[in-house]
Amino acid sequence: MAPPRKVKCPTCKKDGDWFSGRYGPFCSYRCKLVDLGKWLNEENKISEPLTSDRIPDLDKPAEHLDSADEQSDN
Ligand SMILES: [Zn+2]
Repeated sequence: MAPPRKVKCPTCKKDGDWFSGRYGPFCSYRCKLVDLGKWLNEENKISEPLTSDRIPDLDKPAEHLDSADEQSDN
Protein backbone atom coordinates (compact mmCIF):
# COMPACT_ATOMS: atom_id res chain seq x y z
CA MET A 1 0.00 0.00 0.00
CA ALA A 2 1.90 3.05 -1.22
CA PRO A 3 0.52 6.35 0.02
CA PRO A 4 -0.28 8.86 -2.75
CA ARG A 5 2.46 11.42 -3.17
CA LYS A 6 0.47 14.59 -2.87
CA VAL A 7 2.05 17.69 -4.30
CA LYS A 8 0.81 21.21 -4.87
CA CYS A 9 0.38 22.36 -8.42
CA PRO A 10 2.87 25.26 -8.81
CA THR A 11 0.30 27.24 -10.79
CA CYS A 12 -3.05 26.83 -9.04
CA LYS A 13 -1.80 25.34 -5.70
CA LYS A 14 -4.27 22.46 -5.93
CA ASP A 15 -3.30 19.34 -3.95
CA GLY A 16 -3.10 16.06 -5.78
CA ASP A 17 -1.00 13.19 -7.06
CA TRP A 18 0.19 15.31 -9.97
CA PHE A 19 3.63 13.67 -10.27
CA SER A 20 2.04 10.45 -11.49
CA GLY A 21 0.19 12.38 -14.15
CA ARG A 22 1.63 13.25 -17.55
CA TYR A 23 2.09 16.94 -16.79
CA GLY A 24 4.72 16.56 -14.05
CA PRO A 25 4.07 18.62 -10.90
CA PHE A 26 1.29 20.47 -12.69
CA CYS A 27 -2.31 19.29 -12.32
CA SER A 28 -3.10 19.89 -15.97
CA TYR A 29 -1.62 20.84 -19.30
CA ARG A 30 -3.14 24.28 -18.88
CA CYS A 31 -1.30 24.92 -15.60
CA LYS A 32 1.92 23.81 -17.27
CA LEU A 33 1.36 26.31 -20.07
CA VAL A 34 0.64 29.09 -17.56
CA ASP A 35 3.98 28.41 -15.87
CA LEU A 36 5.75 28.48 -19.25
CA GLY A 37 3.98 31.74 -20.02
CA LYS A 38 5.42 33.28 -16.85
CA TRP A 39 8.93 32.60 -18.11
CA LEU A 40 8.11 34.04 -21.51
CA ASN A 41 6.62 37.14 -19.88
CA GLU A 42 9.83 37.72 -17.92
CA GLU A 43 11.76 37.66 -21.18
CA ASN A 44 9.34 40.16 -22.66
CA LYS A 45 9.80 42.47 -19.67
CA ILE A 46 13.46 42.89 -20.60
CA SER A 47 12.59 44.22 -24.06
CA GLU A 48 9.77 46.43 -22.74
CA PRO A 49 11.97 49.26 -21.32
CA LEU A 50 13.99 49.19 -24.54
CA THR A 51 10.96 50.05 -26.65
CA SER A 52 9.86 52.88 -24.32
CA ASP A 53 13.44 54.18 -24.36
CA ARG A 54 13.41 54.31 -28.13
CA ILE A 55 10.52 56.77 -28.31
CA PRO A 56 12.32 59.81 -26.74
CA ASP A 57 15.49 58.67 -28.48
CA LEU A 58 13.86 58.94 -31.90
CA ASP A 59 12.81 62.53 -31.18
CA LYS A 60 16.36 63.77 -30.56
CA PRO A 61 17.94 62.72 -33.89
CA ALA A 62 15.02 64.33 -35.68
CA GLU A 63 15.94 67.72 -34.16
CA HIS A 64 19.57 67.24 -35.03
CA LEU A 65 18.69 66.36 -38.59
CA ASP A 66 16.63 69.52 -38.88
CA SER A 67 19.47 71.85 -37.85
CA ALA A 68 21.93 69.88 -39.93
CA ASP A 69 19.68 70.28 -42.93
CA GLU A 70 19.60 74.07 -42.50
CA GLN A 71 23.38 74.27 -42.28
CA SER A 72 23.97 72.20 -45.41
CA ASP A 73 21.47 74.41 -47.22
CA ASN A 74 23.53 77.56 -46.70
ZN1 LIG B 1 -2.99 23.47 -11.49
